[in-house]
Amino acid sequence: MPQTNLSSSRRNFVQRFSAGLGALSLSSALPRLAAATSKGKSGKLGIALVGLGNYSTKQLAPAFEHAKGCYLAGIVTGTKAKEAVWKEKYGIKPQNVYNYDNFESIASNKDIDIVYIVLPNSMHAEYTIRAARAGKHVICEKPMALSVAEGQSMIDACRENDVMLSIGYRLHFDPNTREIMKLAAEKPYGNVRYVQSEVAFTIGDPTQWRLKKDMAGGGAVMDVGIYCIQAARYATGEEPIAIRAQEFKTDWEKFKDVDETVSWQLEFPSGAYSSSTTSYNMRTNRLYVSYQKGAANLEPATKYTGIKGQIQKRILDVTPISQQARQMDGFAQSVRSGTPSIVPGEEGLKDMKVIEALYRSLANGGKRTLI
Ligand code: NAD
Repeated sequence: MPQTNLSSSRRNFVQRFSAGLGALSLSSALPRLAAATSKGKSGKLGIALVGLGNYSTKQLAPAFEHAKGCYLAGIVTGTKAKEAVWKEKYGIKPQNVYNYDNFESIASNKDIDIVYIVLPNSMHAEYTIRAARAGKHVICEKPMALSVAEGQSMIDACRENDVMLSIGYRLHFDPNTREIMKLAAEKPYGNVRYVQSEVAFTIGDPTQWRLKKDMAGGGAVMDVGIYCIQAARYATGEEPIAIRAQEFKTDWEKFKDVDETVSWQLEFPSGAYSSSTTSYNMRTNRLYVSYQKGAANLEPATKYTGIKGQIQKRILDVTPISQQARQMDGFAQSVRSGTPSIVPGEEGLKDMKVIEALYRSLANGGKRTLI
């Protein structure tokens, strides 16, 4: 499939497929969780990476070295030159190398249990749905889709094809981040009153897909603001009910298509409140949580190299782990045991609902908007 036609063909594909799903879902029984895999209980599950850009090359592929329950079995790439390099470096069998045109034939490949979508955001829905129809379990990178409707069509496709769907929320597998989640569940310091989360970086190349609305769906909000939404949700353990959002722009040329800097506030049912800022034009990476009787903070809160921080006076000094290895192992274990992923498609959809409400609030001049 030529890259230039991908956006419109993706839209058509999702529309056609979603329409078909409507009819299917009326007659189908409840989904089974996991399809049997060919590996048995002791073998590692095979993962195929789809899209060999930065994240696949620098984070996911090296992480397999630390994985215990899965291995890099295959690749899907549109760049011929990458095939030989990856085959050689990771010992990938020639028959496990696919491109975007012959991707469907992955269906008959018994080495590949899980397909991991690491493509630009606008391609997540199409490739998740194609992988599900090929009978493969799917991990899809964040943000799961460009809209709630697309995200729902991905969940439906996986359910219809009896495969599991997980979103690449690696922080749910990080021990220090899990401590923050535990405080929300066990409340040793009482209820959460306030969360502050900020994730921002200075983006480079002005021609990249992240700055094109049709490929990225939005700017900093879609890319890293989603971590702030995640943080507010897992630090409170609640789902937000309303949002107010404000946008700031300094470079109207570079960010003509997408948001540069956005701040927003979320209201939670308990009365907890969060305040966040994301940007493509500054650097910050932190999470602060204020409880009735204490506080916790993580800084950095989302970096691959290790999440650090403290809860009251206790320093969180867990030795850094490979978040990606734990995340892929975690999903492999879910598939093997038929236990739901801790970050299923539904988790991604909750963030998409907040993001849609955020953009609605921006369009309405920052008015309080129900989620
Ligand atoms: P990237 O631009 O480095 O890689 C994208 C890949 O998609 C490239 O190999 C490119 O060749 C391929 N591609 C296929 N068709 C394309 C097209 N039409 N236009 C552009 N590229 C096309 O991006 P990345 O940083 O690897 O991000 C990929 C996905 O992973 C994004 O959804 C991003 O949000 C996500 N991501 C997640 C994390 C995380 O920590 N979970 C970190 C980085 C990126």
